[in-house]
Amino acid sequence: MIELTGKRALVTGAARGIGAGIAIELAAKGADVAITYERSADRAAEVVRAIKANGRHGIAIQADSADPAAVKRSVEAAAGQLGGLDILVNNAGIGRVGPLTELGLADLDALLNINVRAVVLASQAAIPHLREGGRIISIGSTLAERVPFAGSTVYAMTKSALHAFTRGLSRELGPQGITVNLVQPGSIDTDMNPADGEQADQLRSLTALGRYGKAEEIAAVVAFLASPAAGLITGAMITADAGFSA
Ligand code: NDP
Repeated sequence: MIELTGKRALVTGAARGIGAGIAIELAAKGADVAITYERSADRAAEVVRAIKANGRHGIAIQADSADPAAVKRSVEAAAGQLGGLDILVNNAGIGRVGPLTELGLADLDALLNINVRAVVLASQAAIPHLREGGRIISIGSTLAERVPFAGSTVYAMTKSALHAFTRGLSRELGPQGITVNLVQPGSIDTDMNPADGEQADQLRSLTALGRYGKAEEIAAVVAFLASPAAGLITGAMITADAGFSA
């Protein structure tokens, strides 16, 4: 039984895609939820409406994960407006594909800043608010386990950085009864990786189940990890990838 009544959550990058699915699922299980977004104010407002339709408190905060001050401000705003913070979901992420020789400095910085640095900074800002039973859940990628094609070298590298971060932080926060875990999706049908995209058939063919996942299927894993039922799980990489890494 997944029960999050009374919990307060912040989900980064949740105007669309996996983050939106997570925010709505956490609200459906009883949590009040703050989300961040970069540009999609209208989509963020839709997610807030869906949170409120579950009878929960929902707020949207514009914050570019590439901006350290904005990341810190968003965590403080979420904790302030929700009256505390129990769950941080580091979901915001970007992909950049292509040969390493063609990856420019701006793209490299964006990948590192959004996929790695923002996770560290949001966690740093959230820790003083978290209590016993608190949760830090980050969204990695199955590409940190297996990279079966060319073109995503640095993206995969940013996601593998979250392995050591998750393990190390679980040791740091374990004595306080706070768990830290990483969810590693495979191909999930979103704007980032549409199920009818150019590479979709190749990606599907690399899975055991022969299909893409849905945002709701990742949200279900996150909701479980956020719940008291998952209290023994920490420092773990939970892969939900249709068997892509099998
Ligand atoms: P989408 O591109 O569909 O959505 C990304 C979300 O993150 C949007 O809400 C977007 O906000 C937000 N976002 C992007 N950049 C920033 C930023 N700089 N600051 C704040 N918010 C930002 O991505 P997905 O839902 O597919 O991906 C979510 C996470 O899951 C990412 O970490 C991704 O790496 C990971 N993942 C995705 C997989 C997939 O197949 N889809 C597979 C494995 C991992 P806005 O709308 O305002 O731009």
